[in-house]
Amino acid sequence: MTTVASSTSGTASAHTYDVVVIGAGPVGENVADRVTQGGLSAAIVERELVGGECSYWACVPTKALLRSGDALRAARQVPGAREALTGGLDVAAVLGRRDAFVSSWKDEGQVSWLDQTGTALYRGQGRITSARVVEVTGVDGATTSLTARHAVVIATGTGALVPEITGLREARPWTNREAAAAPAVPGRLAILGGGAVAAEMATAFAGLGASVTMVVRGGVLPRAEPFAADVVVESLRDAGVSVRLGTEATSVTRRTDGTVQIDLTGGEQIEADELLVATGRTPRTEDIGLDAIGLTPGSWLEVDDTLRVLAADGAPVGDGWLYAAGDVNRRALLTHQGKYQARAVGDAIVARATGEPVQDGRWGRHVATADERAVPQVIFTDPQIASVGLTAAAAAAAGLRVRVLDIDMGAVTGAALHADGYRGQARMVVDEERQVVVGFTLAGADVAELLHAATIAVVGEVPLDRLWHAVPAFPTVSEVWLRLLEAYGR
Ligand SMILES: Cc1cc2nc3c(=O)[nH]c(=O)nc-3n(C[C@H](O)[C@H](O)[C@H](O)COP(=O)(O)OP(=O)(O)OC[C@H]3O[C@@H](n4cnc5c(N)ncnc54)[C@H](O)[C@@H]3O)c2cc1C
Repeated sequence: MTTVASSTSGTASAHTYDVVVIGAGPVGENVADRVTQGGLSAAIVERELVGGECSYWACVPTKALLRSGDALRAARQVPGAREALTGGLDVAAVLGRRDAFVSSWKDEGQVSWLDQTGTALYRGQGRITSARVVEVTGVDGATTSLTARHAVVIATGTGALVPEITGLREARPWTNREAAAAPAVPGRLAILGGGAVAAEMATAFAGLGASVTMVVRGGVLPRAEPFAADVVVESLRDAGVSVRLGTEATSVTRRTDGTVQIDLTGGEQIEADELLVATGRTPRTEDIGLDAIGLTPGSWLEVDDTLRVLAADGAPVGDGWLYAAGDVNRRALLTHQGKYQARAVGDAIVARATGEPVQDGRWGRHVATADERAVPQVIFTDPQIASVGLTAAAAAAAGLRVRVLDIDMGAVTGAALHADGYRGQARMVVDEERQVVVGFTLAGADVAELLHAATIAVVGEVPLDRLWHAVPAFPTVSEVWLRLLEAYGR
């Protein structure tokens, strides 16, 4: 059975499904999968590539650009392996590997996965025209009207936010899209911004041989533990990146010779071959018909824990037929968290459609409560920063009585064996009232894979007394847990 639908040029048609999803990024795809597994019929609307930002211009290509440099650094830190190295990165091979991971920006693979779920795919721009009705306009102008019996789910994601700086738009800056899909490495790359995207791209392009300058209004990684941000700034500088903190671009000019001039506060000027804007994200809700249902185009979508869109009065829109999942609701702009929301929302829609009870308690099946308590994130800089839950500052601001434990990861035998001169720090934030871990941050080489243990401890609200019995294997980097528990004392 083929489920891929297309409109015929110049015609208008109408179809009805149980659920209509707008946007086939990782989140929309997973909503469709979940509701079809639950026995409902689903249609999904996509105007670009099935797989969304993450697959082609964000998570996947950026991590592909970073991974080779990481592997090289790891080998350099281990005598015996170091001597086997014969040179630096092969840039063409790195870019080629990136191209393979994004299937050369073609979505056949993802379309065939979607097809297996039984979801009907409509190519084009989706717009809500009234309650439960989505109109799809194909590239040829043909329109298709899709009516949802139970729910419409908005999963349209975010685009790069380009700030209002004189000359910036005219200078044709790179966004994450051009950076992730770069066909070559520019000689000089300037980056506006200091968040995860900016720090990762500075790491990647410096590793690939570009001369990188970061222009950062505040500090780097402002939401991370300060020690983690400091270590990233230090290592970026060690890698030759010029990190300008507390500086802003006041105007930008693309010169006739193709180079970019960036004027900074204080009168300084920098020059680059390309300028990457990584100053935040904006929701793709401008042209999806929000005005037709009394919501504001261009706004982030406010949702409850079952991901129903809330109107200005705080109540679900209409009788609760409209949902929003993933980046577009601003709860946690991360693929894994959006896919978690997709599972929750898909199951909630099925439950409501079939009259099952909705499990919306603290950790119920149909709520995305981890968005507030336990969001794991890895920033793939050198060193990697892996965190979950609250930072010490956020826990204190939330009114918790916390105790903060820090250890030097270099003193852990497993880490020292992992890499000569291993440098890193781990922090555990304990809620003293309940004696459970509410936050955990690791800054060190290859810590990404250690994060899930911390996520389980936070979500499981495992008492420290019980955690004491979770013994890390020797000699692994996970022994940081033992050191932290020893520091806490029994
Ligand atoms: C450079 C970068 C690196 C990142 N790295 C990571 C990472 O390592 N790990 C991680 O977890 N997250 C990462 N993220 C975040 C991650 O990319 C997003 O959280 C994720 O893509 C959100 O998924 P989504 O499905 O909500 O939206 P998207 O992936 O943006 O997908 C939305 C889809 O909706 C479509 N669409 C929009 N409007 C319409 C419309 N009106 N009609 C039809 N279709 C429409 C779009 O074309 C798109 O395909 C990164 C982000 C960036 C920018």
